[in-house]
Amino acid sequence: MYRRCDEVSDKISEIIDREAAFLTRFRFYTHLMVCSKCRDYFNQFKLLKSASREPNPGELPADFDKVMGFVMDEVEKELDKNRVDDTLQGS
Ligand SMILES: [Zn+2]
Repeated sequence: MYRRCDEVSDKISEIIDREAAFLTRFRFYTHLMVCSKCRDYFNQFKLLKSASREPNPGELPADFDKVMGFVMDEVEKELDKNRVDDTLQGS
């Protein structure tokens, strides 16, 4: 395992991006098991990374609104159909 904390922090982004080799991951996680400082650091790093991966409006496909509008139309049609069925069954 890695003995020094700076070795671990060197590898963190490799680990998060899942590019690290098995041996690197093994050494990394065994260090985390014995070092709560690096564990905390790693968890914070993961949170930061996942927050930065959230899609922002600029990354949505250009026809996103159109597609969503279409989906909502279909859903409303389904709902109307069910409502009609209910009325028929009721009479
Ligand atoms: Zn450490």
